[in-house]
Amino acid sequence: MFKYLLNLFFPKSCSVCNSILLSNEYVICTECRHDIPLTNHHKNKNNEVFSKFYGRIPLEFASAFFYFHKKGIVQEMIHKLKYKGHQEIGSAIGYWYAEELKNCAEISDVDYIIPVPLHPKRLKERGYNQVTAFGESLSDSLDIKYNDTILMRSIYSKTQTTKSILGRSSVVESVFGVQFNKMHFNKHFLLIDDVITTGSTLEACSRELLKIPGAKISIVCMAMTQ
Ligand SMILES: [Zn+2]
Repeated sequence: MFKYLLNLFFPKSCSVCNSILLSNEYVICTECRHDIPLTNHHKNKNNEVFSKFYGRIPLEFASAFFYFHKKGIVQEMIHKLKYKGHQEIGSAIGYWYAEELKNCAEISDVDYIIPVPLHPKRLKERGYNQVTAFGESLSDSLDIKYNDTILMRSIYSKTQTTKSILGRSSVVESVFGVQFNKMHFNKHFLLIDDVITTGSTLEACSRELLKIPGAKISIVCMAMTQ
């Protein structure tokens, strides 16, 4: 239903290459889908993303769908999604990835899909979190609740101690936090993000979620840098 509605509102041309979509194609044409380098992480638990977090945080499962290369097709897609308002790309990736993740035993008991919150300043500039559409389509397809209120990012101004010529300058930073109640105890949280590089943001977010008693964490990203 959701897919059908999206098709009504968005012109039926490929969001990546602009060629006309066939009736069985959704947002990204078959040719572009073939050009996207897939990681197949979901077929191997001890994959590159999972091992990135060894000794850092305990995870049930971790994966990225695509490889992100500079000047490659994935970079172009993510750029359109993040900076050009093409949120339908996030939906397409979510529905596509859900078909693969459906068979993943490690995440079959996930209770909540949690997006990495965007820095409040970025959210104000961009007007949307680029991960939302991805998360909502995963939620729709896998029938898992989407929750963007448990994990938050709050803003604070840090006054620098060193005095510059212009006097004290303040730097706007942000910090992650969690808000939860008993209802969220002993749950499995699937943390989602767009592109994973060092994993430090996801590590910080996981640490917050692990403050919830009995929390289990898994991570799913659209892409990873190689
Ligand atoms: Zn295309």
